[in-house]
Amino acid sequence: MYKWLALWLAGTTMFAANTPKISDQYTASAQKLVDAAMSDDQSLARLQYLCDRIGNRLSGTASLERAIQWAAEEMKKAGLENVQTPPVMVPHWVRGKESALLISPVEKPLTMIGLGMSVGTPAEGITGEVVAVHTFDELKALGRDKVAGKIVLYNPEWKGYGGTVMYRISGASIAAQLGAKAVLVRSMTGVSLQTPHTGTLEYTEGMEEIPAAALSTEDAAMLERLATAGVPVTVKLTMEAHQEGYAPSHNVMGEIRGTEKPDEVVVLGGHIDSWDIGQGANDDGSGIMATFEAVALIKKLGLHPERTIRVVFWVNEENGGAGGRAYREMVGDAVSKHVAAIEMDGGAEKPVGFGFGAMAGGRRRAMPVPDPEGADISPPSPAAYARVEAIGSLLAGIDGGKISRGGGGSDIGPLMISGVPGLGVRTVETHYFDWHHTDSDSFDKLVLKEFQANVASLAVMSYVLADMPERLSEMK
Ligand SMILES: [Zn+2]
Repeated sequence: MYKWLALWLAGTTMFAANTPKISDQYTASAQKLVDAAMSDDQSLARLQYLCDRIGNRLSGTASLERAIQWAAEEMKKAGLENVQTPPVMVPHWVRGKESALLISPVEKPLTMIGLGMSVGTPAEGITGEVVAVHTFDELKALGRDKVAGKIVLYNPEWKGYGGTVMYRISGASIAAQLGAKAVLVRSMTGVSLQTPHTGTLEYTEGMEEIPAAALSTEDAAMLERLATAGVPVTVKLTMEAHQEGYAPSHNVMGEIRGTEKPDEVVVLGGHIDSWDIGQGANDDGSGIMATFEAVALIKKLGLHPERTIRVVFWVNEENGGAGGRAYREMVGDAVSKHVAAIEMDGGAEKPVGFGFGAMAGGRRRAMPVPDPEGADISPPSPAAYARVEAIGSLLAGIDGGKISRGGGGSDIGPLMISGVPGLGVRTVETHYFDWHHTDSDSFDKLVLKEFQANVASLAVMSYVLADMPERLSEMK
């Protein structure tokens, strides 16, 4: 046993007296799951089908609905019970044709992609002088005089996704407040080979809605160099983007019913929708399929957890979060029977472990809607945290069980706000944001061994949480 656990147990005698050592109790079943996951050479087969045969899956598209029907059939084939596709209305945003052209000092097409949920430009486009800033403070310092009627370029220093994404999400409304007529934003990435990254924006209510697009980091840097040198920079932005109201869609869910406490549920999953470019392979094809493969593996090995394990593919995470909210509404009072929620939405590179507790840093939409119960998520108790660490220790063999604080994700946010302990898969995240929301988020980026390790860690964590005697929320 690990020294920390020994010391901790010695200090909490009541807990120690009542609790078998999880790491001993579940060593054999965990090893069985890890061995089976790591030797499954078909581990990526379903994800490959999703990527190559169905493709990307933006909310409101026929390919998303094909993916949903296919996923439900696959869950049935894997022997999951209560496979359902509960209805969810999702926003239907359409990109249309789009381009950005540098007009002066030289004429050159810019590498761009419109931001999700952006409005379009008039048919003749928007032509304007570019004002380049790094931060919101710089923009505000310029004031309305220097911003009104211009196209604002945000070229922030890359401080990781959580530290930079606010320019993509809020940049348009903040620039509109000063009279800007369009916004360009440096792609949210640290690495680029002229690859523009999309992602959603959010307009502030009551503020004029102006079009916004991402530029490749290379083109954003070039525009900034020109502007800094005092050269007037003129860009023409043309976008057909528009909303087509709401479209009917679905979450997808299937279960292994618990043997003793079937009403109590460990839920795990990711989001089935993606952006309209690439294959949505990492974001979040890898998350839904790793959680599904984990549950399918528990089923296949004939392990029978005391509680129900439910895999859910939430819809519309990328541009609305309707699936996560609909799931919370659907379960109603049974939210109190949710023992834990696990989300995987950071790609399937080598897993490091799980974040456990409050929301993932910087993922603003992790707080989906104002909730009457309040948005305060209490941190896990020391006993619950130690327990999750003990389960993590079962993953030492694949070096994938490190528990850190702050977890969850946007789809399980509504559950966590209602008091469900939330965990988020953490990986080394070496390349995830190189591909994120781009045309290069494709199946070839997946590495079998790394994907298998994610399946292994999800299988062990969900199985033990569903089978162990106590609930995390009861451990003080
Ligand atoms: Zn995602």
